[in-house]
Amino acid sequence: MKKVLITGASRGIGAKCAELFALNGYDVWINYLSSEKAAEALYTSLIDKNCSAHVIKADVSDSYQVNKLLEKTGGTDILVNNAGISQTKLFTDISDTDWDKMISTNLSSAFYCCRAALPFMIRNHWGRIINISSMWGQVGGSCEVHYSAAKAGLIGLTKALAMEEGLSGITVNCIAPGVIMTDMNSHLCENDIKALKDDTPTGTLGTPEDIARAALFLADEKSSFITGQVLGVNGGFVV
Ligand code: NAP
Repeated sequence: MKKVLITGASRGIGAKCAELFALNGYDVWINYLSSEKAAEALYTSLIDKNCSAHVIKADVSDSYQVNKLLEKTGGTDILVNNAGISQTKLFTDISDTDWDKMISTNLSSAFYCCRAALPFMIRNHWGRIINISSMWGQVGGSCEVHYSAAKAGLIGLTKALAMEEGLSGITVNCIAPGVIMTDMNSHLCENDIKALKDDTPTGTLGTPEDIARAALFLADEKSSFITGQVLGVNGGFVV
């Protein structure tokens, strides 16, 4: 049974990835930081469905905690770097603290997790790394410069690491979601949601399942010829 570690899996996209992977026969490690009750509830619901699941707390923006996390899981076959935060601010209002937190949570976390997970994958000559970027990392989002920079960095990390690990049986890919209805977008008012739908060719916003399905596809044994790619799951918002 292949092991999958999903960072930030207590809520939203990460939680749906955990559910979908578990229901498809993977051994799922649910990482969380502060939403303990949600993570435990997800774990219990998966165990009740006879799935293989574990729940594990770690701040993935901290390299020490990430190393301990990968020690506790005993490595992983599949790593989904999903944990992230967002913030809307005028560029000139972004403080040093805002910047550092954004980069460490959305980008350094993936660096720490990949670095800690790779020795296990290299030993096995097999691995899948799936980084959850954003369409704002592809095209840039106004009033989200620090978020866009972190997500663009994740795309660069993906492409370069894919080159380096090509011969190791390890694929490294990105998913770049469009607007997905999770807590991250709970601040949007009805008018914002309508405007976003109007700007999306499908006329709809995405669901966590849209992203989880893409992750499941990239993790598949048979997806071995796909590496270094950015898969947009955005209803055609960015093409
Ligand atoms: P969400 O509902 O706000 O959930 C974020 C998750 O990240 C939570 O499980 C949270 O855990 C976890 N997390 C945050 N900081 C963490 C840390 N330092 N260590 C460990 N876990 C941490 O967000 P979402 O919408 O599902 O987003 C998931 C990913 O998709 C993010 O990388 C986001 O940037 C990306 N994305 C989302 C959208 C969208 O429209 N929703 C679009 C493009 C990309 P706790 O609650 O336990 O703290």
